[in-house]
Amino acid sequence: LEDITLKEGEAEILVSNRNVFYNPVQEFNRDLSVAVLMIYAKTRNKEVSKNGLMKQDGITILEALSATGLRSIRYAKEVQGIKQIVANDISAKAVESIKRNIEHNGIEHLIKPSHEDATLLMYQSRRERFDVVDLDPYGCPTIFLDGAVQCVSDGGLLIVTATDMAVLAGNCPETCYLKYGAISLKSKACHEIALRILLQNIASHAARYGRYIIPVLSVSADFYIRVFVKVFSSQIKCKENTINIGMVYQCTGCESLNTQPLCVRKPSGIYKITPSPCVDQLCKVCKHKQLAGGPIWLGALHDQEFVSTLLCHLNIMTLKTMKRIQGVLNVIHEELDIPLYYTLDRLMSVVKCHTPSMVMFRSALLNAGYNVSYSHANKTSIKTDAPNEVIWDIVRTW
Ligand code: SAM
Repeated sequence: LEDITLKEGEAEILVSNRNVFYNPVQEFNRDLSVAVLMIYAKTRNKEVSKNGLMKQDGITILEALSATGLRSIRYAKEVQGIKQIVANDISAKAVESIKRNIEHNGIEHLIKPSHEDATLLMYQSRRERFDVVDLDPYGCPTIFLDGAVQCVSDGGLLIVTATDMAVLAGNCPETCYLKYGAISLKSKACHEIALRILLQNIASHAARYGRYIIPVLSVSADFYIRVFVKVFSSQIKCKENTINIGMVYQCTGCESLNTQPLCVRKPSGIYKITPSPCVDQLCKVCKHKQLAGGPIWLGALHDQEFVSTLLCHLNIMTLKTMKRIQGVLNVIHEELDIPLYYTLDRLMSVVKCHTPSMVMFRSALLNAGYNVSYSHANKTSIKTDAPNEVIWDIVRTW
């Protein structure tokens, strides 16, 4: 087969073998990752030199499932402050392609190709950890998480893509339980539930090794989700993080959502399992039964300080999907730190009423004294701290 040369960002890759995965639709995903790494590498290198933890000669990255090597090559050419990248794949054909592309781009000094099962490689790297571990598999990433949470350094960045949206978004709740240890729900907020199921699963893998996570950025886009989380070691913080895990309940009548943490912190600092889950109770709004989903991550989805820094630096980056990145990050920056959301059209269709304009509905919530924002995961979303009863009172006035 003839080689086809493809250019994306600063990288040029040769694609000749149809067995090696290349998806041009994921350019936004790769652009966003480049942008995040630009900021992360800068702060990480400063942090490391300030704490005198190691020589400040750049960060190390493991791209555990690399295919053509495109992502690693882009990181090497577009992100400042990288010491070394390992571009790994289990397929011999993929590794051939990675090697050719590294050579073609003249970056042999920065990227080391590796032909290994990702899990084995990550277990072998538990002592020599990486600052960044990037997992971009086909479908579900959870089989790689046990290795990944152990081979990312303290304060390191774990980046995970999941593309099995049907499973995460409620079409196969039992498969979701098998793969992610959580029940998914068919809900208008399914994309955010998907993000929160994945974060819960990463947190639970990390906690087995006394490690805890802080989400930096969690994005739902097209047919996939991608999360960027920092991983730290601390048994105490692991325990504290249990208050960020909880169940989600959806009413079978009005579709109202409720969340309940599995543990709460008592003033004495002791963590207590929360009693009487709301699944035993009927929905407060319409008295129907509730479906239980989860456990999900109830903590923050993003580190807003990081998002602000990223937004401020976007103008010095040249990325093809920049407009879209800017748009998504601006909405994320405004997102309230409140789990889940409703959609205006669905709220109104439950009561079979005409849908008012978004501006009018949002104003009604604001006038009632509550906060409201969009979620980047849905264009018609309403994320608010108003109780369900208030939301339905407003719906009924239309
Ligand atoms: N990250 C790539 C990009 O941005 O273009 C795409 C990766 S592709 C979706 C998934 C890759 O994972 C495939 O090339 C496949 O060969 C590889 N893979 C699947 N299972 C693996 C394993 N256990 N260890 C290493 N690589 C694996």
